Amino acid sequence: MTSPFVHDFTDKVVVVTGAGGVLCSYFAKEFARAGAKVALLDLNLDNAQAYADEIVAEGGIAKAFKANVLELPSLQAAKEAVVAELGEVDILVNGAGGNNPRATTDNEYHETDLPEGTKTFFDLEQSGIEFVFNLNFLGTVLPTQVFAKDMVGRPGANIINISSMNGFTPLTKIVAYSGAKAAISNLTEWLAVHFSHVGIRVNAIAPGFLVSKQNQALLFNEDGTPTPRTGKILNGTPMGRFGEPHELIGGLLFLADEKAASFVNGVVLPIDGGFNAYSGV
Ligand code: NAD
Repeated sequence: MTSPFVHDFTDKVVVVTGAGGVLCSYFAKEFARAGAKVALLDLNLDNAQAYADEIVAEGGIAKAFKANVLELPSLQAAKEAVVAELGEVDILVNGAGGNNPRATTDNEYHETDLPEGTKTFFDLEQSGIEFVFNLNFLGTVLPTQVFAKDMVGRPGANIINISSMNGFTPLTKIVAYSGAKAAISNLTEWLAVHFSHVGIRVNAIAPGFLVSKQNQALLFNEDGTPTPRTGKILNGTPMGRFGEPHELIGGLLFLADEKAASFVNGVVLPIDGGFNAYSGV
């Protein structure tokens, strides 16, 4: 994708967590195409390395680092390596996150006559809920603690979090993911206020519905036919289609670009084909 606007991140160091994944590898590539030196952090170093190699092959500057967004020592070590190899960090994208089947109910509504074996709200394990809540919420808080410390007073410094449609209104079945993304939207506003005297802007994007690894099973049957949930999503999206990863880039780069968004602070930007605006009527 080529942005219609010229964003120039030359000499900026951008850290992207979850950069071994589908969306955040895309984000990393687009920052690199706009001139940034990009640090791709992921628990899965092989995936992050493969994407960093693709960026370098394209002529960009990128390095992959192993990091667990849920462990401070791992993040500290990654930060030291990033600073040593690429320089002081200007922009942090808190991308690592996602849902997990252990925190997902089978049923949209609780009923008295559900079939035997249905995984209801009452069957969800504490560990599954904790896993999803921690990955998304704590996995945004801890990297922010580690990387924002040295962003204090740095011209143009900013943070982008990744919320979701379920951060505005919860989606059925995914109880912990909805709560965690709502918490990320709230955290985005909290951090924007908290850092407003020291020059770090904090914003978020809230992607609408894209087809990806983590929601593939909810959206399509094994034979590739759409599930009823897909029909509901498309009916709830006034533009009548799923989004594509490249459609997130304009919003992402806009928020990160000090020249474009110097007075934009604490927003959660829906990029959703109108889903969030639509009441269904
Ligand atoms: P993905 O599953 O493709 O990538 C997530 C990456 O995070 C993986 O590479 C994984 O290895 C990494 N990761 C997992 N746990 C980690 C940990 N503890 N420490 C470091 N890295 C870890 O996900 P995606 O679809 O690219 O989503 C990226 C972000 O966008 C997530 O925050 C997700 O919640 C959000 N989002 C996605 C969609 C969508 O439709 N795909 C919609 C809204 C929001």
